[in-house]
Amino acid sequence: MSEAKSEDQLVEDYLQYILEVNQRMNLTRIDSVESARLLHIEDSLVPLDDVVAAPAGRYGDLGTGGGFPGVPIAIYSGRKSVLIDSVGKKVAAVQEGVNSLGLGEQISTYAGRIEDLTKEQASSFSVLTARAVTKLVSLIELASPLLVPGGLLICYKAQTTQDEVDSALKVCPKVGMKLIKDYQTTLSDGETLRRIFVFEKVSKPQIKLPRKVGAAQHNPLG
Ligand code: SAH
Repeated sequence: MSEAKSEDQLVEDYLQYILEVNQRMNLTRIDSVESARLLHIEDSLVPLDDVVAAPAGRYGDLGTGGGFPGVPIAIYSGRKSVLIDSVGKKVAAVQEGVNSLGLGEQISTYAGRIEDLTKEQASSFSVLTARAVTKLVSLIELASPLLVPGGLLICYKAQTTQDEVDSALKVCPKVGMKLIKDYQTTLSDGETLRRIFVFEKVSKPQIKLPRKVGAAQHNPLG
């Protein structure tokens, strides 16, 4: 019997798969193996401890694109995972890669908008991530109805203006979320800055969520 692959090996194999598919399909702008290891693996894993510390239950990656940070986080956390994106061909490629690693039982995908998933699966995720998807104010609104009480939303940000943070803080009570952690780190290249915001679902939203499809991003609260 062959030995189970290590997490490191699974993530590396997934990266190779994505770089290969990327030659035919636009999944990521990053095309060198070295920068992909930095920006897709190392960067994805920055808040792994926060994911691990969240309440027991399912993990979801909002706007997963080519499967980042979703696939590395799913593999290292071991949680049941759903990777969500509205672009069907990206999601199909991600699912194929996951299946080829033998992880199809643990990691599934949802091809559709976050708002539509919420209508089917409200209050069923313990932890969510989102990298390079949309503004904080929109993310907290989209995430809140998907989360269980005490569930976490982990946002990966690069350049964030104080305005963006302030707008989200103002809207937090309305959507039942609270900022509980905000930290920054530099990746191993010595220059790429990554800032992480962790929000907790602390109460019921004061308004009915989800609003109309697209509203959270095109007509943010506040
Ligand atoms: N997280 C990935 C991809 C970022 S690109 C990475 O960091 O590499 C943003 C992705 O979010 C796109 O693939 C887009 O289709 C998806 N997206 C944006 N808004 C969405 C929504 N409301 N529902 C589902 N997917 C969404």
